[in-house]
Amino acid sequence: MTQIYDRVALIGLGLIAGSMSLAMRRGGLAGEIVGTARSVETRDVAREIGLVDRVVDTAAEAVKGADLVVLAVPVGAMADVAAEIGPHLTPGATVTDVGSVKRTVIDAVAPHIPDGVHFVPGHPLAGTEHSGPRSGFAELFDKKWCVIVPTDGTRPEPVRRLKALWEGMGSFVDEMDPDHHDLVVAVVSHAPHLIAYTMVGVADDLRRVTDSEVIKYSAGGFRDFTRIAASDPVMWRDVFLNNRDATLEILGRFTEELFALQRAIRTGDGDHLHAYFTRTRAIRRGIIEAGQDTDAPDFGRSKVKS
Ligand code: NAP
Repeated sequence: MTQIYDRVALIGLGLIAGSMSLAMRRGGLAGEIVGTARSVETRDVAREIGLVDRVVDTAAEAVKGADLVVLAVPVGAMADVAAEIGPHLTPGATVTDVGSVKRTVIDAVAPHIPDGVHFVPGHPLAGTEHSGPRSGFAELFDKKWCVIVPTDGTRPEPVRRLKALWEGMGSFVDEMDPDHHDLVVAVVSHAPHLIAYTMVGVADDLRRVTDSEVIKYSAGGFRDFTRIAASDPVMWRDVFLNNRDATLEILGRFTEELFALQRAIRTGDGDHLHAYFTRTRAIRRGIIEAGQDTDAPDFGRSKVKS
């Protein structure tokens, strides 16, 4: 494959940045990949496992001479990182981010981007519940969507190059405006995570069901909530603080539907329940047809020994 950037600087060396480094290497998409993280521990691990070509101690140092800078830190940390790197960016470079929320990240980062540097926000809709420098893998973005969110005045060429990078890393690419993006991810990601956190919290609070029963019988559906609810607490705290309006809008609708289902159960309205579950089953079929999940029983998990 063709090299797209001469030097990529990854700020943050967790799941997303690590996977980007490995995917860029797989595709030969970057001349050199430089990385940095906040803690000495993460930088040491990244050096030890050779996660990037060169690990440096500060974000300011990492961005020097880079033609692509990727902000891959929690959403709440974007403003401080942007303030640190702003004065050290190379004219003509592109700055992008991978934050799960777009409107507040754009508001936080854009003021620190100097004239002559392009800012092209992005968000790969791919992830796992793992985090840190050892969690990345080259296939994370394969056949998953990455949303690019050009800001006012973004030139077409930097957008085209960034799209080519994501496609080279295995993604499909779409463009959206920030508010629409934030509403879409509130539906497909943020509200489901909050519901999973709640369900696991409820099970934990329910003392009538012992801990051992919750774990022993978890394949009844609960296990899938626990995977999501094991996601990084800092990342998800920042997501909800920064996508407040869209998440609250979706949770409002969710609560209304939940009450309607609750009433149907209480009044024995089987038709309502059946019609509802038929509609939701069709959504699952659509996801499988779109190649976004497997239709193997139990999500393709190997059989759990009983
Ligand atoms: P991660 O594995 O937890 O890695 C986060 C990285 O950011 C670490 O290297 C960490 O450094 C650094 N960091 C944390 N707090 C910082 C701060 N206050 N200042 C500077 N650096 C800081 O996280 P991730 O999953 O890669 O997520 C990174 C970004 O991608 C987030 O904005 C998230 O919203 C977005 N995203 C995540 C997923 C997902 O499923 N995980 C999917 C799509 C997008 P240390 O290790 O030294 O603490």
